[in-house]
Amino acid sequence: MSPPFDEDVFSTLVEHSLEAFALIQPHGRATYVSPAITRILGYSPDEFTTLDLFQIVHPDDTYRGTERFQQFLKQADSSYASVHRIRHKDGSWRWVECVFTNRLQLPKVSAIIANLRDVTEQKQTAESLRGSEEKFRGIVESATEFAIVTLDLEGRVSSWNSGAHRLLGYDAGEVLGKDCGIFFTPEDNASDRPEAEMRDALIDGRGTDERWHVKKNGTRFWGSGFMMPLRDDRGAIHGYLKIFRDMTRSHRAEEALKDASRKKDEFLAMLAHELRNPLAAISNAGALLLVSASEPETLSWVQEVISRQARYLSRLLDDLLDVSRITQGKIRLHEEFLDLSPLIAKAIESVRPIIEQKKHTVLFTVSPVEIPVFGDALRIEQILINLLVNAAKYTDERGRISVTAIRGTEAVVSIRDSGIGIAPEMLRHIFEPFTQVDTSLDRSSGGLGIGLTLAQSLVELHGGTLVAQSDGLGQGSEFVLTLPLADK
Ligand code: ADP
Repeated sequence: MSPPFDEDVFSTLVEHSLEAFALIQPHGRATYVSPAITRILGYSPDEFTTLDLFQIVHPDDTYRGTERFQQFLKQADSSYASVHRIRHKDGSWRWVECVFTNRLQLPKVSAIIANLRDVTEQKQTAESLRGSEEKFRGIVESATEFAIVTLDLEGRVSSWNSGAHRLLGYDAGEVLGKDCGIFFTPEDNASDRPEAEMRDALIDGRGTDERWHVKKNGTRFWGSGFMMPLRDDRGAIHGYLKIFRDMTRSHRAEEALKDASRKKDEFLAMLAHELRNPLAAISNAGALLLVSASEPETLSWVQEVISRQARYLSRLLDDLLDVSRITQGKIRLHEEFLDLSPLIAKAIESVRPIIEQKKHTVLFTVSPVEIPVFGDALRIEQILINLLVNAAKYTDERGRISVTAIRGTEAVVSIRDSGIGIAPEMLRHIFEPFTQVDTSLDRSSGGLGIGLTLAQSLVELHGGTLVAQSDGLGQGSEFVLTLPLADK
């Protein structure tokens, strides 16, 4: 069917088209090209027809001699489409989409009809898109500190970066297509946490992810991050992006801080209680004095109460002051050469009242040899008294306390009791400040949970160690103190 307009109209169409049309001979010369060629390649139509076209095609893209081009030349009416680089008159390369149609057999035409369109911009856009996608993929892959995971709408893993592999231990192949519950804890899965995270992401645009996660080997780590919905070009949500990293260490530190602050609060409450008790006793004694001051029995009782409670109060305050001095590094030791055995005997004498009150038996094996140490006599006595008071306090009536001192490569003192013992999980905590295993214990003999902290710090100031041992609750306890031997 012929076009519904005459030849003039037809040639006007060709002459004004944005695409260039050309008639090309198989040896590579154009016999005609439309004016649009100037816009595409810079040459005037006359210039273009003088060129060897194979010469201006990029050597990597040339089709001269290719099997496909030979086939095309042989086949009448066949078409050949390709996109290749052609050199612009200014020397730059332009990407040109060419559609060749073989009309060599058609007597009136006897040429290859070429339709040329400049696609440089599209090519560059596509190229830079690919470049930025690659760059983005590179960033995701190099973010090894972060697990970057995408999920489909059902919560199945759809991509898995190397950070996720490093953090969770699974290869991409092991998790792709699997439900993300695989790296949530069983507790969180039971309470539908993964679904809740996705729901939050949908509703708020972001779901926080601050929870324990499970690695392939079953160990747990504290994951911190977020989940957000993934949208396509039209804004429709087609999945989720989850980014998180291992924050176990700082989470633990945070928990420890909270724990320390909680312990401090408990300590303050207890301190108030401990200070009020002696004050109540002193004020009762004062009240009694008002009504019956003339009775000698009352007087001596009041005297005894006041001096006992005052001693107790000053011991509490001394301990408190010592703790604050130790934390500020302000304790000064007055060191001298000492023999440990007499010091131990003196400490035992100081705690005699509580030992007698609880009817304990104390066995002290005196070392046949001198145990020379270089230290502060008052402080070492303070340490020993602390340990002995605890042994007496945490042992039911008529218990046994045995104290031994040995001179080995260092001085070793052991204070063992037959008391309530210490549960294994508490052993490493009892030296922490304000720690008390059982706060409901009868507190008549006082204590603020700082005695062992103080004792251990003082021992360490002397270059020694203090450790606790116990086979468990009801099995008694042993505190072993070592100090360096002194060379006189
Ligand atoms: P407190 O003032 O409570 O005695 P300490 O720092 O001296 O504080 O001791 C800390 C905790 O360690 C005690 O509350 C107690 O639970 C435990 N403890 C200390 N010594 C013994 C012991 N000989 N036997 C059993 N438990 C002990």
